[in-house]
Amino acid sequence: MQLPPALHSRLAGGPGAAEPLPVERDPAAGAPPFRFAARRVRFPREHEFFEDGDVLRHLYLQDVLTQVTEAPERPRVPEFTCQVAGCCQVFDSLEDYEHHYHTLHRNVCSFCRRAFPSVHLLDVHILEWHDSLFQILSERQDMYQCLVEGCAEKFKTSKDRKDHLPSHTRGRCTSIRRSSGG
Ligand SMILES: [Zn+2]
Ligand SMILES: [Zn+2]
Ligand SMILES: [Zn+2]
Repeated sequence: MQLPPALHSRLAGGPGAAEPLPVERDPAAGAPPFRFAARRVRFPREHEFFEDGDVLRHLYLQDVLTQVTEAPERPRVPEFTCQVAGCCQVFDSLEDYEHHYHTLHRNVCSFCRRAFPSVHLLDVHILEWHDSLFQILSERQDMYQCLVEGCAEKFKTSKDRKDHLPSHTRGRCTSIRRSSGG
């Protein structure tokens, strides 16, 4: 590319170089080398001047947040075995282990080691299988609680209860207390 001769000679600084370009000094400017006067400019918060920064900051924070939330989710851990006696299941993620623990070991009957998916079912089990008073009482009153949490129905026998249970899936049982629903 050919530079314009005047510019070329000025850059080369050789003999015959042109005079430096005249600079118009702002009278309010400070001493050289400053050629401008500082001026305070205030933009409103939503001014487009800040837009790029806002976008970048947003992306940055989003990235930081996803790093923070994703990191602990599936940390690489060496394989390990469930420590509950009699259980030998192997895991390579804490998440899987937690799920396993909650479904199989959290609500465990301390008498017979059977596991239940909820505290309610464990309570019902303990009452019916390990409470010596249960059999005596059940001959006088309805003692078999509905297995659905929040349903107040009680039955004379476990068979009566079994017959009642499908009414929940058909949406016919009206005895579930509203307040217990989630
Ligand atoms: Zn286990
Ligand atoms: Zn038990
Ligand atoms: Zn019920």
